[in-house]
Amino acid sequence: MITRKNFFIYLTVFLLFASMIIPFSPLEAADPISPSSGEVIKTLTPELTWKADPGAVKYDIWMLKKSKKMFGLYTFLGRSIREGTETKLKIKTGTLEDNSDYLWMVRTVNKTSVIGSFGKTFRFSTAVNPIHQTPENPTPTQPASGDLNTIDGLLAAIKAKFGITMENGTADWALSNLRVIYNTLLKIPAKFYRCTKYLQRISTTSLGAGVGGYVNSGDPSRVYMTTLGVNYDLAGIIVHEMTHCFQFNGNYGVATAWTNQFWTARNSYNGQWQPISAPPTEYGKTNPLEDMAESVKLYVTNASNLKYQDMQRYNFVKQYVMNGVEF
Ligand SMILES: [Zn+2]
Repeated sequence: MITRKNFFIYLTVFLLFASMIIPFSPLEAADPISPSSGEVIKTLTPELTWKADPGAVKYDIWMLKKSKKMFGLYTFLGRSIREGTETKLKIKTGTLEDNSDYLWMVRTVNKTSVIGSFGKTFRFSTAVNPIHQTPENPTPTQPASGDLNTIDGLLAAIKAKFGITMENGTADWALSNLRVIYNTLLKIPAKFYRCTKYLQRISTTSLGAGVGGYVNSGDPSRVYMTTLGVNYDLAGIIVHEMTHCFQFNGNYGVATAWTNQFWTARNSYNGQWQPISAPPTEYGKTNPLEDMAESVKLYVTNASNLKYQDMQRYNFVKQYVMNGVEF
C-alpha cells in the first residue's frame, strides 16, 4: 500500500536513482560500512567509510536528508567525489543538523561505465543533544516452548525462526492469523523476510477505510496490518507489504532494476511513470514499486497466475527477490 508520506519518498528516490542507473550490476558496488545502517550518531562531523570496489576510478557519495516538513520526504542534500583509492569521507561542520535523519550511498564510477552503480543505502540519525528519549519497548518474556498450537508458542516461534516480532497494536493477532503467517514465512527465503522486523496488528488506519496494510517510509521494517487486510487476504497483503520493506532495506538496486525493465519515465519532470508491459493487477498500475509488490504477492500466493500472465515479471521475482525459490 502506498501512503501520501511514502509516495513522496518513492518519487524522490526514483527520480534520483532510476533515471541515472542504467546498467545494474550487483557485483560492482561500494557498500557503506560506517556509520552502520540505522545508527544514531553523537557527532555532526562523522567519517563515512565504505567497502573498496576493485574496479573504482572514482567514488561519488550522495546524501539525502529527511525533511521535517514535507511528509518526511528525503531530499537531496549534496554529493562529494572521491578518488578510487579513497574509501572514506569526513563530513564538514555545517553539513548535518542535530536530531535529523539521513540516507547515504556510494556510486562507483569505473573504467567501463561513467554511470556506474550504487551500493546499498544506509540510514543514520544525529542525536548530539537529543530532544526526547525514545521510550524503551518492554520486551515481552518469550515462552520457552515452540508449541505451534498456542498464540504464545507461535509468537515465540515466529520471533525465533524468522526474527520477526508480532506486535498487538489497536487489535490483537489471533491464533489462525499467526498460523497463516508462520506458514507463509516458512516458504520464503531469509533474504526476503529479514527485511521485516515487526508485524503490527491494528484495527483501522486514518489512511483510509480500504487500506489493508501499509509500511511507513520512516520506519521501513515495520508492517501494519488492519482488520480489513487480515480478513481479506492475509498472506497476500503481508507479502505485498513485506516487499516494501525489502525495497527500502538495502534493495534500492533491485527496485531500480525493476523500474528500468518494466517501466519508462516519459516525463522526468513530473515523474509520470508508464509501464512498458501491463502490471499483473489493477493496483500494480499505481507505480513501479506497487507493481513489484503486487508481482511478488502473486509469485508467492498465486504463482501459476503470474507465470501465465507475465513470465518476465515471474523470472525477475524468482531471480532477484526470491533467490530462485519457486512455489
Ligand atoms: Zn503497496
